[in-house]
Amino acid sequence: MQKKIPQRQCVACRGHFDKRTLGRVVKTPEGNIVFDKTGKVNGRGAYVCLNVACFRKAVKSNALQRALECQIPSEAIEAIEREIGGNDAG
Ligand SMILES: [Zn+2]
Repeated sequence: MQKKIPQRQCVACRGHFDKRTLGRVVKTPEGNIVFDKTGKVNGRGAYVCLNVACFRKAVKSNALQRALECQIPSEAIEAIEREIGGNDAG
């Protein structure tokens, strides 16, 4: 028997994926928007695929803002894009 891996929904493409293949964007209790790779950051979170296209779509469609119930500062967006994009981001 294989252990069932929890699935989460990407707020951009609405696909359901294995939790490990998604990134979590979290609004911390301090009100900061951070990218959580470990799944351990406290706060309200929303899942997106680990690709910049899905993240941008989530921001552009306001899906992320709705999920986190707040606006997302452009510095946070840029920082998260860098984290998702890894080494090849600019
Ligand atoms: Zn997605």
